[in-house]
Amino acid sequence: MRDEWYERQDLGNGITRLSEPHVHRYFAANLFHVRGRDADLVIDFGMGLVPLRPALTLEEGKRLVAVATHIHADHIGGFHEFETRLGHPAEAEHFARMVDQETLAHVFRSLPGAVQQSPCLNWTPEHYCIRPAPLTQTVEEGDIIDLGDKQLRVLHLPGHSHGSIGLFDESAGVLFSGDVIYIGGLVDNLPCSNQALYRQTMQRLIDLEVQCIHGGHGAAMSSEQMKAIARHYLQGTSAKATL
Ligand SMILES: [Zn+2]
Ligand SMILES: [Zn+2]
Repeated sequence: MRDEWYERQDLGNGITRLSEPHVHRYFAANLFHVRGRDADLVIDFGMGLVPLRPALTLEEGKRLVAVATHIHADHIGGFHEFETRLGHPAEAEHFARMVDQETLAHVFRSLPGAVQQSPCLNWTPEHYCIRPAPLTQTVEEGDIIDLGDKQLRVLHLPGHSHGSIGLFDESAGVLFSGDVIYIGGLVDNLPCSNQALYRQTMQRLIDLEVQCIHGGHGAAMSSEQMKAIARHYLQGTSAKATL
């Protein structure tokens, strides 16, 4: 059962997308394994219901960097499994403590149909908790994560949460956007959300030269799709913003 927990899809160019099809759709996020010449990168880590690391095909002795796009449960449950943990300083304290109000683990615990299949024997959602995973290094706007043949630039994209980041492989035109933007309903009404900052982030995405966007949920987007979503967001929130 555990072997089948994560669904994998090879996206080409050394990128594998993993997801958790047995988790409620609200909490079923995309995780990415990006292989570089000198190092591998893992972006986001799922709910932590089943160990993630054994589900990745890793080369022994190769440097492995784990980057969390933001603090929410569906992205950081398995973060603690990795030795080198990067994230934005705005959420550093939360990664170290993993309190419910920041991770939203309590929402998952009380969600009807939290999982469609039990991750292990005698599992119950009431006992769900996330192990702390203090950052070993913080990353901010403009920082580069160098995999040898691929360089990913950190974009600070607040709005969904204060410390939301994207990872941008500029030469390939690929952006990993976390929950900042994806195909589906965007969330800007959490205690950690900020609509004014989200609007700035959306404008920035509209101006970004990018070809393929891998969001924290759903299928990959073309530049046109992403920009249409960003424009739609700006239109939908412009009335509120002028109040
Ligand atoms: Zn989120
Ligand atoms: Zn999410």
